[in-house]
Amino acid sequence: MSTASAEVRRDQALAEAAARFDTPAYVYFTETIAERLSGLRRHFGRWFAVSYAVKTNPNPALLSWMRDQVEYLDISSGGEFTLSQQAGWEPARISFTGPAKREAELRPVIAAGLGELVIESLREARLADAIAAELGLVQPVLLRMTPDRVPKGFGDQMAGRPSAFGIDIEDAPEILPQIAALPNLRIIGLHIYSGTQSLRPEAICENWRIFMRVFSQSCELLDLMPEKLVFGSGLGIPYHPGDTALDLSLITEGIAAELDAFRAQPRLAQCRLVLELGRYLVGPAGYFVTRVISVKQSRGTRIAICDGGLNANLAASGNFGMVLRRNYVMHRIGGDQGGSRAEEKHDISGPLCTSIDKLGSGVLLDRLDEGDLLAIHQCGGYGPTASPLYFISHPLPREVLVQADEVQDITRIKD
Ligand SMILES: *Cc1c(COP(=O)(O)O)cnc(C)c1O
Repeated sequence: MSTASAEVRRDQALAEAAARFDTPAYVYFTETIAERLSGLRRHFGRWFAVSYAVKTNPNPALLSWMRDQVEYLDISSGGEFTLSQQAGWEPARISFTGPAKREAELRPVIAAGLGELVIESLREARLADAIAAELGLVQPVLLRMTPDRVPKGFGDQMAGRPSAFGIDIEDAPEILPQIAALPNLRIIGLHIYSGTQSLRPEAICENWRIFMRVFSQSCELLDLMPEKLVFGSGLGIPYHPGDTALDLSLITEGIAAELDAFRAQPRLAQCRLVLELGRYLVGPAGYFVTRVISVKQSRGTRIAICDGGLNANLAASGNFGMVLRRNYVMHRIGGDQGGSRAEEKHDISGPLCTSIDKLGSGVLLDRLDEGDLLAIHQCGGYGPTASPLYFISHPLPREVLVQADEVQDITRIKD
């Protein structure tokens, strides 16, 4: 959405969503997801199939739309399995990660024919093996490996230090043979997701190099010809003003030769590589729309107080794994078409009775007045389901899907 007319069209859809379905609202554009996906295919399709991490945005209408867009889903709970089933996904195309899987969620997914269980510990392997044995099945599994290093430049990391996730590579010689010996599990490959939200191509390349080393080392230990190797991508998105969006071609340039060589090993003759990601695909496709309820001029600062804050959008308030709160990119819907409004600095607050309910400080915007609509960008992932929706009992945010010119209420979590 770079041209002016595309922005006008976008704002019309956002305003229509707010008018018809109320605010606060998350508005998702399938067209943008399709564009992101075609970029991924263009740059990485030679090597990778795509798996979408459901936890990023588990809205059933979105999951259903994705059925013929991406090859696989990765779920992180039994609840996400149910949502994926309701959206029409075959269990065989689903993998299941998560560090504390319980018997009560393992049994139904194994019985249903889950594609791969992503094993994160010996305890889990033994439990899954016992369940599969009881059901008279052999469950295909991927082993989640945890590298001893994550390069600098990832906003969040799950390896390279004590970590709840996966099997530490240092422990592989002891643990992998024990899992391989379990009769009702069949190891078909490996999985790594060790860091995310990187906007640095060279850091992403370096991380994938680490993956390839860990994969090779683990395959040797297991004497495994893998059928699947999953790369947790780590691809980030430009949440904040001044962030530069990733140029995928720089990643391709940096890693193509090594991926080709990796792929060409005889051991990988039967192998499918998978790029697993969430935010890169859906983040830029979503806007959080909130209405200005009140404006207060306070000690020299203009504060726009909106109907949706941290309760409806924890991530944009900076409280979802961010060390320092930084403004998200945002704009006033409708722009300043008349040219009559000067830009002005605003603080943006939500409706909650707590000082941490802030969506922006010192944000330069067309002057906001009561009733105006504000759109926060990069909100297609980690939205309603990653927010404390019930805190202070305000109305829950709507979810709206824009497909071509159709604007449709797809709210999942209702009051
Ligand atoms: C959350 C998660 C992802 C997606 O992460 P993004 O940062 O949204 O791309 C991928 N894989 C696993 C295992 C995850 O838990």
